[in-house]
Amino acid sequence: MKKLICLVLPAVMLFCSVGCGSDDIGSANTSSNITSSKVESIDKNSSTSSDVTDESSDDSTSSKEEATVDDWRTHPEDFKLIALTYDDAPSFSDTNGNSTVRIIDAINKYDGRGTLFVVGRTLQKNGKALLEYAAQKGFEMGNHTYSHQSVSTSEVGKSWSAAEHFEDFNRCQELIVSETGQTPKFLRPAGVHTNEELYLAASSLGLPCVSGNCKRAVSDYSSSTSADMIVERVLANAFDGAIILLHGNNARTAEATERLCEILYNDGYRFCTVSELFELHGIDYNDLPFNTMLYGVDPETGEVITGKKY
Ligand SMILES: [Zn+2]
Repeated sequence: MKKLICLVLPAVMLFCSVGCGSDDIGSANTSSNITSSKVESIDKNSSTSSDVTDESSDDSTSSKEEATVDDWRTHPEDFKLIALTYDDAPSFSDTNGNSTVRIIDAINKYDGRGTLFVVGRTLQKNGKALLEYAAQKGFEMGNHTYSHQSVSTSEVGKSWSAAEHFEDFNRCQELIVSETGQTPKFLRPAGVHTNEELYLAASSLGLPCVSGNCKRAVSDYSSSTSADMIVERVLANAFDGAIILLHGNNARTAEATERLCEILYNDGYRFCTVSELFELHGIDYNDLPFNTMLYGVDPETGEVITGKKY
């Protein structure tokens, strides 16, 4: 049995968020900005948790009513918790960040929130309004490096010392703080590739490294991975305590997220941030290891999963 404790989360949100292979950061740099007025418009038109009963099936309605009585934040032991995470935010490879907004709204519609792993250089160029919108909706911001240099596939990244990684991570960290007011609590390395120098830098910044998808790759960054395939692969990875790694910059993932939220919600799942996943399992952030990748919480032992055990 999982070991959950009941927590009443503070009114103010606690902020902090496998395999993002060939992330299309380059295309993001040339994309359009999402404007504040657009965000305001999106906000007014977007669904909220109160909309669920209006737009869902009878089954969803009963599930929603149940959630209102036994809310997952105060009674997490009554639900299965899953952390949906999205890399390369804010990366607008499609229409003005609409895919990311669809993702945020889909998760919010089912009384949940998720985590965006932010690339510093794209935030600097075009991402502030979108991240403000995400933060307003209760999303957590994670650090996905400033320059997105993989230590496995980038010659630059391979050559970096711990000090150079530190500078890169810290630059992203400071940008997210200045633009959103949130201090990221987790790092997702570019490509989810690691080495000793990278772990040293992450440890120096106090950032545990988060992976995800511990059963099989989802690879939603690939244009050949359809929404149907994303849904199938995420469901194969889903369990109480799982961290799911997706990308927030394509319509296939947005469509899949909309479908997954309904399926998972009706199967008893609730959608939390990475910080909440650990907190609601009674795991102290300060006890998380810095020299390995984190995949979630084991539903049987209640302990942090640090490798692909399943
Ligand atoms: Zn990435």
